[in-house]
Amino acid sequence: MSRHRELADQFGTPLYVYDLDKVEAARRDLFTALPEEFDLFFALKANPHPEMARALREGGDRACRAEISSTGELTAALTAGFVAGEILYTGPGKTDGELREAIGKGVRHFSVESVTDMEHVGAAAREHGVVADCLLRINSETSSATTSIRMTGKPSQFGFDTETLAELAPRLTSVDGARVVGVHLFSLSNAKDETSLISELQHSITIAARIQDEVGVTFSLVDIGGGFAAPYATPGSRPVYEKLRQELGSTLDVHFPGWREGAPRVACESGRYLVGDSGTLLCGVVNIKESRGRTFVILDAGINTFGGMSGLGRLLPVAVQPDPDHVGDGPEHTERASLVGPLCTPGDILGREVKLPPLTAGDVIEIPNAGAYGPTASLLMFLGRPAPTEVLVRGDKVVSVSRIEPQRVYE
Ligand SMILES: *Cc1c(COP(=O)(O)O)cnc(C)c1O
Repeated sequence: MSRHRELADQFGTPLYVYDLDKVEAARRDLFTALPEEFDLFFALKANPHPEMARALREGGDRACRAEISSTGELTAALTAGFVAGEILYTGPGKTDGELREAIGKGVRHFSVESVTDMEHVGAAAREHGVVADCLLRINSETSSATTSIRMTGKPSQFGFDTETLAELAPRLTSVDGARVVGVHLFSLSNAKDETSLISELQHSITIAARIQDEVGVTFSLVDIGGGFAAPYATPGSRPVYEKLRQELGSTLDVHFPGWREGAPRVACESGRYLVGDSGTLLCGVVNIKESRGRTFVILDAGINTFGGMSGLGRLLPVAVQPDPDHVGDGPEHTERASLVGPLCTPGDILGREVKLPPLTAGDVIEIPNAGAYGPTASLLMFLGRPAPTEVLVRGDKVVSVSRIEPQRVYE
């Protein structure tokens, strides 16, 4: 019996299994793909499990910093051992309460989306008698690559429109309690190939340099964003980026000649690349149903467990492909069926016309590459089923077992 199957028997399904060795391998690979001077932010949004984050924080001089955008993620990052002063706080709706809490806990770096957002950060910092370091998030009017999620170039709640920055410079440099120290670009997610990733990041570097001139501040931190790809719930492996390091280095040499000496420091961000391939979702087959010539494999995991955000069109659409080596008991993938969850909505579909072996109730199927945008990006509360159990392993050893417990609390 496979190790995953043993874990499914021990802990029940639906079950996420995350392998910390794989998280560490992804961290090493991404640091290796980037120039060695780079900082790398882990976007906790992709998987805020504190032990996953901890595996990314450890690693000596190849340790990630944390990128967060809520009080909950702040708690997760601090639990994971990140130092507050190294955290980057981002997001379009940072409330005064959240800002006060973050600054009170020692967070000093904020990505700001507008002059008023920066003023809110400054006001919270003044209450604590400190000055916050702000990165201007940039909504560039131009871009250079095609990707699955495009975040800039249109009207957006994210970032300053590039064309307005020269004019805003006097206001940006006179906010009490907050100073501009750099820029934050995040213009794409899940780049389709290395060429488009490189061209987008190079484009971000040129924009950052132009904005430094327009705002008239010498930047100390330039966060050029990410776009590092990973398969999502389908078989496959993380891309290997062979040219990235050199291409980014030479572009930076042109636009920020002091960058190799840390003036400015340059950073990238990633969620899915760092944690995606560490996770496997084990789902139990509850029932099989035929309807008008089509087969429905009804699982105990649906969009309440995985991929619920996809319905919003923001994350990749879910088109789950079970791992061919670990599906059911039969050797042949002969049938095509829809993989559906247990929820009372026709939208609870994980995959259509998926090739499957003959399955029966009680079988377990494995969905690979499910370590990013899993439980916390799903409709956990919808229809009141328990959240999936999440097991962390290192090799064969189980190191942590937990489950998120959303519940109503009466006041
Ligand atoms: C979501 C997000 C990320 C992570 O995106 P991935 O595609 O998972 O790498 C990084 N930075 C910001 C600002 C984000 O919003």
